[in-house]
Amino acid sequence: MGSTQNLGQRYSAGDPGGEELSSTDHIALARARSAHNYSPLPVVIAEGQGAWVTDVEGRRYLDCLAGYSAMNFGHRNPDLLEAAHRQLDRVTLTSRAFYNDQFGPWVSALADMVGKEKVLPMNTGAEAVETGIKVARKWAYEVKGVPENEATIVVAGANFHGRTTTIISFSSDPEARTGFGPYTPGFRTVPYGDAAAIEEAIDHTTAAVLIEPVQGEAGVVVPPQDFLPRVREVCDRERVLFIADEVQSGLGRTGTVRACEHSGVVPDAYLFGKALGGGVLPVSAMVADEDVLGVIRPGQHGSTFGGNPLAGAVGRTVVRMLTEGPYLENARRLGEVLGRRLKEFVGDGVVSARSIGLWAGVDVDPSLASGKELCRRLAEHGVLVKDTHGSTVRMSPPLVISEEDLNWGLDRFAEVIGELRAGR
Ligand SMILES: *Cc1c(COP(=O)(O)O)cnc(C)c1O
Repeated sequence: MGSTQNLGQRYSAGDPGGEELSSTDHIALARARSAHNYSPLPVVIAEGQGAWVTDVEGRRYLDCLAGYSAMNFGHRNPDLLEAAHRQLDRVTLTSRAFYNDQFGPWVSALADMVGKEKVLPMNTGAEAVETGIKVARKWAYEVKGVPENEATIVVAGANFHGRTTTIISFSSDPEARTGFGPYTPGFRTVPYGDAAAIEEAIDHTTAAVLIEPVQGEAGVVVPPQDFLPRVREVCDRERVLFIADEVQSGLGRTGTVRACEHSGVVPDAYLFGKALGGGVLPVSAMVADEDVLGVIRPGQHGSTFGGNPLAGAVGRTVVRMLTEGPYLENARRLGEVLGRRLKEFVGDGVVSARSIGLWAGVDVDPSLASGKELCRRLAEHGVLVKDTHGSTVRMSPPLVISEEDLNWGLDRFAEVIGELRAGR
């Protein structure tokens, strides 16, 4: 403790960038002085460019996590940096007490891109989900006529929608949930991918079905092809809102702006986050038509930072990049390479591999290594990925990665699997 305090003093006294500390020093300082709500790999990133990051000692790593898809456009994307720099020199925060000149153009571009009328901007993904829940409940009381305080929302098992008290109330992950009660009532959980179970869970109190079109944290779980269309049908028939949490699956990751496009489904509301801020700042939004978002009136929901001009400048650039840039095409083309090569490992240290676009979940043979151990070894070989739930590793490289670099990363994966199989 004493020595990490000294490290802390050195850090805060003379050296704003902390460049004089080694990786070991940084890790000791972080472990001593930050809450242990994460258990990071021992890599201390100092810089990033495109699909690559560099640590404090100058070692380079291929970033195949990309901030859980917040970094879809790569580190220091020049278009995003230019938009952010330009806006930093103008105005960064106004609050919604006033209008700002980035706001209107941004929300209208975002709504147009996904074919909806209106946007409610927030900051983090969890806030977008909270917005979806509040809007759905209010819609249920005011439009559908659900008796007050009785609204229910149907969600899927193994979901991940964020970390607020209400959201973890309907998590099925004991780690995320245990010890944080009492829980917010009003949620019904059914197995993911099971439209019949959704239909059964719906009754006169149901406001919405809230699901991820592809479950990210669960290990990149792609539902059966007819699942989302059937959810759409059920929601139409029962007069229930279909809310798609596209915080991780949206904005290019699967090769489309919305993962829902793969099954030709249009939900009533989209929740976006992560890549919407271009990896520059947290930006999220609920996007829907007026008949849904119109239930919220002044004073009923909002955020000090939501819709700030810096977010607007970056968010509008994200929309333009998705519309005009090569990102969707890259995700499709490179996603085929990723999917094809990962399949080759199945039966060979890998139990199964799923992918959609440039996004994959790989279940490693648990007798070989835990997901965490695999990630640790991959980092030693210069590739950053992240485990989830025991022996699953998910990969989501930035959409700017080159085919050569992607293949290089997969070669390293092959190397590590080979080592593990050889008992090294
Ligand atoms: C990451 C994530 C969230 C939460 O986003 P935060 O910005 O971490 O609050 C919500 N939904 C999904 C599907 C996510 O992947």
